[in-house]
Amino acid sequence: MMPERECRLCGLCVGRTNIVYPDGDPDAAIVFVGEAPGESEDLAGRPFVGRSGKLLDAILTEGGLNRSTVLITNAVKCRPPQNRDPTESEMEACRPFLRQELNGRKVVVGLGRSSCRTLIGYEGRMADIVNVPQRLELGETVSAFIPAYHPEACIYNPGLRDSLRETVRLAKELAEGMR
Ligand code: URA
Repeated sequence: MMPERECRLCGLCVGRTNIVYPDGDPDAAIVFVGEAPGESEDLAGRPFVGRSGKLLDAILTEGGLNRSTVLITNAVKCRPPQNRDPTESEMEACRPFLRQELNGRKVVVGLGRSSCRTLIGYEGRMADIVNVPQRLELGETVSAFIPAYHPEACIYNPGLRDSLRETVRLAKELAEGMR
């Protein structure tokens, strides 16, 4: 189940150029969930192709993963105006699509606050939960959920990049069933 090309389920349809569908291996064991498309993603119709995507790609590659071995998606599939955070009702409109994308995965990585809010209802500080795996129940299936810093945060604060590297290491380890 994917949003239709003409999706009008929330107000983000007004300003979008393209719906940004997931990218990568549709059958991947590991899924990375960002917040929302930015300008580059809206224009390209692909998630994480701008500045934070380049950092994410680099950290994935360092950790032995890449776009052909994971799936990359967002909490909402259309760009919010001025790159503001998606609202609760926008995330709610997109949640059925997101849940379907995550169903049956071994590991779900929540990149940043919006992703953690929509998936586990977390509203607190990222520092308190980052890289602490949790259970994520999606209907009949259970995945490991790893809260993580958003790559954009790692651009502004390079000190967080090691934490994102650790996220990738942990995701791989959990997917390979070593923990
Ligand atoms: N930030 C996100 O959360 N998602 C993207 O696709 C790009 C930037």
